[in-house]
Amino acid sequence: MKIKHILSVTILSISLTLISWGYTGHRTIGQLAENHLNPNAKVAIKNLLGDTTIADACTWADDARKDPQFAATANWHFLNLPLGLSFEDFKKQIDTISQGNVYSALLKAEGDLANNDTPRQQQIYALKFIMHFVGDLHQPMHISRAEDKGGNTIQLNYEDKGTNLHSLWDTKMLEHQGLTYTQLASKYDDISAEDIKQWQSDTLIQWIWESYQISSQLYAEIDLMGKRVIDDTYVQKHLPTVEKRIKQAGIRLAGILNGIYPEIN
Ligand SMILES: [Zn+2]
Repeated sequence: MKIKHILSVTILSISLTLISWGYTGHRTIGQLAENHLNPNAKVAIKNLLGDTTIADACTWADDARKDPQFAATANWHFLNLPLGLSFEDFKKQIDTISQGNVYSALLKAEGDLANNDTPRQQQIYALKFIMHFVGDLHQPMHISRAEDKGGNTIQLNYEDKGTNLHSLWDTKMLEHQGLTYTQLASKYDDISAEDIKQWQSDTLIQWIWESYQISSQLYAEIDLMGKRVIDDTYVQKHLPTVEKRIKQAGIRLAGILNGIYPEIN
């Protein structure tokens, strides 16, 4: 029994590392987005979520994929592409991938939520998928190579413990700050009106392209590292990128939701 329990805990923690920003990252994104919603969007979202907070709704998709009903959604959290694509080839490849992925899943969920004919329960799922996938696609290692499972098989050492490139970017660097998601959200909510306007007007393909460019750099850096030990220099260099991606995800999530539920004049 005991071994079985340890095994299942191990399998659970491995599978969690495969899926997205850790809960702290997703919740921070949700809180940031909430800070930037118009009053009409806040009411409409509250009407769908009930007592669930936006921050908690942002992590639902990672739990749902363990439910057989949502098994098919496992591939919706990321996008695998070869390195070295031009922007034009990148766009072409994304448009022609037949397997479900974070791009197609987000577009589908946005369409479902914006359509008044979508049954209420489906709207709730669509809303929660949007809240999660905007976060996932801003995590650079979610737009990454298939052969190393988005960095999950690239082993590293950080703070004297074994980890991997994916997990480092999902959770380890963010949680290194030792702050709660509400603390992180208020710390990060210093975004200029100019940035908000620019980030929300960039296209979805551009958001994904940004992650692709960052992950390409991260792969190149890791390849050049002799010992795969993540030191403070690495963290200090990359923490601003982690912060920027979380800010952009929160602001863009608010932009999508404000677009679906525009302000009533
Ligand atoms: Zn995810």
